Amino acid sequence: MYASGLKVCNDSNDVLMLQKSDLCYESVNVTKGYKNLYCVDCEECSDVYFCKNCMNCSDCIGCTNLRNQKYCIENVQYTKEEYEAKKKELDLSNYQNVRNYKKVAQSNWLKYPVKYMHSRQNVNSTGDYVFNSRNTLDSFEMVGAEDCRYCQFASTKTSKDCYDYTEYGENVEMVYETLLLGDGGANIRFTTQAVSNLRDLEYCYGVANASYLFGCIGVRAKQYCILNKQYTKEEYEELVPKIRKHMNEMPYVDAHGREYKYGEFFPINENVARGKGYAWKNVEEKAYVPTKSWKDLPNTLAETDDSITREIILCEDWDTNQNNAMNHNCTKAYKILPQELTFYKRMNIPIPRKCPNGRHNDRTKFRNPIIFNEQVCMCELGNHDHEGKCIEQFKTSYTKEGKEIVFCEKCYQAEVF
Ligand SMILES: [Zn+2]
Ligand SMILES: [Zn+2]
Ligand SMILES: [Zn+2]
Repeated sequence: MYASGLKVCNDSNDVLMLQKSDLCYESVNVTKGYKNLYCVDCEECSDVYFCKNCMNCSDCIGCTNLRNQKYCIENVQYTKEEYEAKKKELDLSNYQNVRNYKKVAQSNWLKYPVKYMHSRQNVNSTGDYVFNSRNTLDSFEMVGAEDCRYCQFASTKTSKDCYDYTEYGENVEMVYETLLLGDGGANIRFTTQAVSNLRDLEYCYGVANASYLFGCIGVRAKQYCILNKQYTKEEYEELVPKIRKHMNEMPYVDAHGREYKYGEFFPINENVARGKGYAWKNVEEKAYVPTKSWKDLPNTLAETDDSITREIILCEDWDTNQNNAMNHNCTKAYKILPQELTFYKRMNIPIPRKCPNGRHNDRTKFRNPIIFNEQVCMCELGNHDHEGKCIEQFKTSYTKEGKEIVFCEKCYQAEVF
């Protein structure tokens, strides 16, 4: 529940970018994790809390950049007995303790260097969260991509020869200006929400199992259609180039004087939309009447009665800053669903103080933005190849104003791997 960017996961709540993981909670970018709570960028870890960029670790709390470790707290090694005793002392089943320790752990994370991009086994690739890819540039959340640029969220293998493509299918190739494409698509342009086994589509919406379509909506299992009308193969092949030519020679001009030629899209924001006289809908305040405030929730689950599922809880974000809250679609109030409560009981964690959208918003702060900028390595360590400060440059989605210490591949490898 309340998850985004999941691939093959079980029994996990409030997570973002989770792959092949079970029993995770409030974590971002976790792969093959088991019981990762409040963690970011961890891989193959189990029973870890507040850990960042750890790999193959278990029973750790508040650790950063560790590899193959057990029973560590804030990167300090303990015996099993010491670890258990300290864990008990921290008592992460208590809401106040979680809230306080979160601050401690997250400020500790910033003391350690981060690699300029989240990447693994790439050849000549830039962007962020790009894995097992070749010649894939300025892309985000891609796995197994080849010769792609400006692509996002295609983390099922493989995407080949794609440009300006967003989400998600397996085995797609030659895709351009397309959003939401299912498995097995090839030669697709200016299309959205098309699923399974598609070939040679242009300007299509909501089509499936189809090929050779131009400007079709909702067409299924068909070939050679233009504007949803059936043609023969020969007619289709003759007509489509004519239409493209016509679109460029006599582009459609709308009431505001904008030309729509073959191949152009117009993504716009609220200001631009309003400037052009379009309608724009903002989120409205919900009519919920809270029956309980986030402030009055008990600290532990032991003190929480099952009747909590009947309460309408005022969200902390809304209560503290309504305008900010509206910016991330805060719903003002929220409910704890019975299956959610079951999960909290199973994990022995306190119930959240924010609505699902507020929780999601908090997690997105631990995923880098899809904006890339040139930066210089921040390493000044004396025991590396460079004399004085490292001058290696890279494209990164860590922001220039960010608090992270961003290292180039070489400096990062020298310290972490
Ligand atoms: Zn909220
Ligand atoms: Zn460096
Ligand atoms: Zn260095």
